[in-house]
Amino acid sequence: MRVGLVFLPAWIPYNPPLGISCISAALLKEGHTVELFDYNVLIYDEVKDQAGKYWLMDQADKWENKQKFDKYIFPHIAPYLKNLIKDIASKQLDAVGFSTYTSNSQPSSIVIQMLKRVFPDLKIFIGGALVEDSFAYELLEDRLIDAAILGEGEESAIELLKHWQDDIPITKIAGTIVRNKDDEIVKGDKRPLLNMKNLPIPDFSKFDLSKYTSKGFPVEFSRGCVAKCTFCSETNYWVSFRTKTPAQVFKEFKYFKETFGVDQFRIVDSLMNGNHKMLEDMCDLIISEGLKINWYGFCRISNKLTPELLAKMKKAGCIHVNYGIESGSQKVLDLMKKRYKLSEIYKNVKDTYESGIEVHSQILIGFPGEGWFEYFETLKLIFNLRNFFHKIYPGIPLDITTRTHIFDNLDSYNVINEPGKPWRTKDNSNTINIRKFRHWFLIKFLNTIKMQQGYPLAVE
Ligand code: SF4
Repeated sequence: MRVGLVFLPAWIPYNPPLGISCISAALLKEGHTVELFDYNVLIYDEVKDQAGKYWLMDQADKWENKQKFDKYIFPHIAPYLKNLIKDIASKQLDAVGFSTYTSNSQPSSIVIQMLKRVFPDLKIFIGGALVEDSFAYELLEDRLIDAAILGEGEESAIELLKHWQDDIPITKIAGTIVRNKDDEIVKGDKRPLLNMKNLPIPDFSKFDLSKYTSKGFPVEFSRGCVAKCTFCSETNYWVSFRTKTPAQVFKEFKYFKETFGVDQFRIVDSLMNGNHKMLEDMCDLIISEGLKINWYGFCRISNKLTPELLAKMKKAGCIHVNYGIESGSQKVLDLMKKRYKLSEIYKNVKDTYESGIEVHSQILIGFPGEGWFEYFETLKLIFNLRNFFHKIYPGIPLDITTRTHIFDNLDSYNVINEPGKPWRTKDNSNTINIRKFRHWFLIKFLNTIKMQQGYPLAVE
């Protein structure tokens, strides 16, 4: 089949999008023809002088809220959405898939509606982090899409296209919600988790690499996380932690360097050190083969991240590690179920600095249970480690999202989370205004101690 895969804004356009590149590689292997449409970077590149600020992380509400989207975003991007329809039409496709996530739900819905109106017979499917049952059922009931893929997409997309290509009547397909042969909307069984060792190398061959803000490729060592922090949905989304083999990752690095001349890699994993043995073996391979590359990504604070392993990572090309430290309060860390001690933070940060790898850190303001005392403990930790940190990411104050322990257990956190309103604690000790003030003050504090900051202050 001739298949198009679409990625719409807004996502900070550092690198080519990995999700549709993985699906593309899997479909190419099955003999399909694949066209990729990264209209996230294409639109960003066209409008960045007037509207580039809307791609920053703290502008997500303008993409997610319909009224704000219509007011702030749509006038800037409307002509490009029409161009996308023409672009898709020119490729004469049989099916088009959309990679959906929270901040591209509005543009995705608009393009899907336009496409179905113009090409009623075109098969349309969605996948990605946004796809929850309710969203999928809504679009299927309105006959705007033909299928939704839940969770990892590679095998489900292959099976779905096989049904469409061979005109096989559908009863149900694992990992999807579809209309079956009797025109009923049916949800398939859960698909067994993918074995990462069988995944092909992602297909980055069709992107205009000059448009991305960072000259590197995204690479996966693993999917999932070994932790279950209570504010985070990673473990629920990916279900269990799995890795590629060290040789597989090495082969990808080498292929990308030799084929595209790319030698910088952003490791997109929830954490690079979910399996310390795999990480060490991969470093050994890079060092022994003399491959000259740079790579960076997130790590979890861990006593297995020893000075010896950090030295190997440095030698193998690791240039920075971004720790999800989040808080300097042991009480808050325990409520988050971070499962490490403050002393381990101090040790990992200092050891990483000593190894020559830059230390970056995420800070998460406003967790329920963070009072003023705990907040100032966080500032104190940053101050104490200021000479070891290279950059701090103040992010945005805590947003309670679906598929997290907090979202499912509001009472146990004393939280009220009403639709359309910012969450607050029952005693009003933690409200949106308090969180905004703490976040604002954190940024002032970082400026005062001359600490570099990561997004949302800049598109890097
Ligand atoms: S916050 Fe980081 S360590 Fe915790 S579950 Fe999420 S990805 Fe894993």
